[in-house]
Amino acid sequence: MQLTDEHEAFRKSVRTFVEREIEPHVDQWEHEGAFPAHELFPKLGRAGFLGLEYDPSYGGQGADHSFTVVLGEELGRIGCGGVPMAIAVQTDMATPSLHKFGSEDLKQRYLAPAIAGEAVVSIAVTEADAGSDVAAIRTKAVADGDEWVIDGTKLYITNGVQADWLCLLVRTSGEGGYSGMSQIVVPTSTPGVEVSRKLDKLGNRSSDTAELSFSAVRVPMGNTIGKVGEGFRQQMDQFQHERLIAAYLSVGGMTRALERTVAYLKQRYAFGAPLLENQYVAYRLTELDAELDLLREYNYGCAERMIRHEDVTRQASIAKLIAGRLQRRVADWCMQFHGGIGYMEATWTARYFRDSRLLSIGGGADEVMLRILSRMGPFA
Ligand SMILES: Cc1cc2nc3c(=O)[nH]c(=O)nc-3n(C[C@H](O)[C@H](O)[C@H](O)COP(=O)(O)OP(=O)(O)OC[C@H]3O[C@@H](n4cnc5c(N)ncnc54)[C@H](O)[C@@H]3O)c2cc1C
Repeated sequence: MQLTDEHEAFRKSVRTFVEREIEPHVDQWEHEGAFPAHELFPKLGRAGFLGLEYDPSYGGQGADHSFTVVLGEELGRIGCGGVPMAIAVQTDMATPSLHKFGSEDLKQRYLAPAIAGEAVVSIAVTEADAGSDVAAIRTKAVADGDEWVIDGTKLYITNGVQADWLCLLVRTSGEGGYSGMSQIVVPTSTPGVEVSRKLDKLGNRSSDTAELSFSAVRVPMGNTIGKVGEGFRQQMDQFQHERLIAAYLSVGGMTRALERTVAYLKQRYAFGAPLLENQYVAYRLTELDAELDLLREYNYGCAERMIRHEDVTRQASIAKLIAGRLQRRVADWCMQFHGGIGYMEATWTARYFRDSRLLSIGGGADEVMLRILSRMGPFA
């Protein structure tokens, strides 16, 4: 992946936007346990950041995937995990299926407002008894004339409190396992859709996370994304976008964390010298930076495959697995080398430590990535 002047100009424009529109509010949003998505997303939409790869006929930029990498790396530098995750849900987790498989009518009515930032979107897959094992979902949609009638619950839904519509994975037939699921666009204003709980979390506190319930919710059958019964396959395809953007975000976050730690250790003295002059400290950070470089380059390889429209299931799983594990170590060492001040809530390291933990759990836990890989790799 070649980073051209165009990429660098784009990187600069995202960084300027973040510094002006996001960074000054992060502490307040973290404190309040939510950020105002309906204020921020239209600004992101006007800047063109919510539909980089999407068709211009729906307001997208028609760019290739390399720009998504740059966007992810820059958003990952934001001083919290919650806001970047919420934006990534909008761009790369809840809308790729609609763009790829949705009807023209659905795209005009739901994708275009999401790209403009006028509609806030969630991806609703997980249930209380179905997280890692997506095939265990029980929320169902039963056909009644030309409508679906939906009943069930979804758990841990990012943006769920503020969402205008959901990309909902449901069972649409009695077939078990991977068959008989569909993705349906469900406007949250539909009678019977309720936010049953706003959930309290360890980290990513500025992003709202909801439990949602569905009781006799009626939506037109035309709201089905793609083919009835193809929902699982389509969601697995959508998960590849989710896992890659997560890896890009994490590279941005780790890069900034190491930069800030090095800056701190250059001016923090102990035993008569800056802490960074201790070989142990310098080598440890150098080693983490080297691993980060490997991940960054690996991500670029993934992006090239995306640009060539190749299957990236293996690569996206590897990128997310490695990113989640490396991020946990980076967050831990950054806190360690800050000492007591690193443990204080006023220091960025405390929030980064909390927020970093999610990547190995959400969007498919590390062990689920290993499950996918072990079934495809040389051990299959
Ligand atoms: C903050 C947050 C935001 C989220 N946002 C969304 C969202 O927007 N939309 C959505 O649909 N979901 C969302 N999720 C859900 C997330 O994707 C799930 O939590 C995740 O997939 C794990 O599912 P689970 O919590 O049910 O864990 P379980 O399935 O109960 O698994 C528990 C643990 O068991 C281990 N494990 C699981 N399977 C295996 C295996 N085969 N082999 C070995 N070990 C295994 C893993 O360590 C795993 O962490 C979010 C979660 C969080 C915490």
